[in-house]
Amino acid sequence: MCNILNGENCKSVCPAVISMTQLRKQCAYWQRALRLQDWEVKLTVSRRSQFTMPRCQGVIDWVLPTRQAYITLLDPRDFPGTPFMHDIEVTLVHELLHLYVAPFHADEDTLADHAQEQMIDALAQALVRLRKQADGKRASQ
Ligand SMILES: [Zn+2]
Repeated sequence: MCNILNGENCKSVCPAVISMTQLRKQCAYWQRALRLQDWEVKLTVSRRSQFTMPRCQGVIDWVLPTRQAYITLLDPRDFPGTPFMHDIEVTLVHELLHLYVAPFHADEDTLADHAQEQMIDALAQALVRLRKQADGKRASQ
């Protein structure tokens, strides 16, 4: 179930989960896996109209000295209608990985920004794919 706001089943749109409780569990799992437990992370899910950047599926704001982060994920109901699979877990991991490069935050739409985004996105996709493969192997044993 991934229609977070009203609990409708929308697996055909987003096969990868999710209730808010599950999302918080995933966040705790990935904070442990990425060794980011010392960050206080608040999660929220918002509709597309709440996002200022039109193609964005997640946003993270952080306060580096206090290690606090606020992640907003796009509601799966508003995932873009493209041939590419959208997975809210990948977006969550993507946003968490930003914390590692937070001290080196690049200005938006620069070469450094694009390089950071590509690296973060490749890692997020690979990590989630590997987790799912490992879970699949455990389930079949
Ligand atoms: Zn990003």
